[in-house]
Amino acid sequence: MTAKTELPDTMPCKRCEGAGTQTLSNFGAPEGVYRPARTRLCVWCNGAKTFARPDIKALLQSILSKRSSTGLVSKRPKDDRAAYLWRWIRFHGGQDVTLPMTFDLYGDPYEDYLGEVAQYAARRMYGHRSVGVTRWGNLLTNTPLPTAGLPATAQSCGPVVTDDHDKTTMAMLEDERAGYAEG
Ligand SMILES: [Zn+2]
Repeated sequence: MTAKTELPDTMPCKRCEGAGTQTLSNFGAPEGVYRPARTRLCVWCNGAKTFARPDIKALLQSILSKRSSTGLVSKRPKDDRAAYLWRWIRFHGGQDVTLPMTFDLYGDPYEDYLGEVAQYAARRMYGHRSVGVTRWGNLLTNTPLPTAGLPATAQSCGPVVTDDHDKTTMAMLEDERAGYAEG
């Protein structure tokens, strides 16, 4: 894992590359609608230009729970970086391998680092760091990834979620459908 000391205290926003603003190009349509080019504050960094290095200890403290059987708080955290760690730890560790797994921290230059932290934490907490990737990699590639010793969520016919603390979108949709059927 990247050593913390290798990371600078701040890094420029990936979206505006540190400008703090974004320029939208002009726009014209045959119906006569015309919008000139304009510059606005970068919505990804809110004009801050840079992001501060994440406080990993504080982030982990905010998502770890001794009372929970999974070791993580049951609800998806509100903070973007905390939610990112929480979701990826669950995916890598095999608690929830639901797809689509497209959680991005748009503009945050420390995203790759947080991704490494999630893998590291998953291995420390669950003993595994690539359950989600194994599950879906085996559907998508011809080279089988070994699943021996991995939780049921790594197996192609296994469950995708092993707890129901945080209902996935799919589960909520199914509840809704059941509701319609009853009504
Ligand atoms: Zn920006």
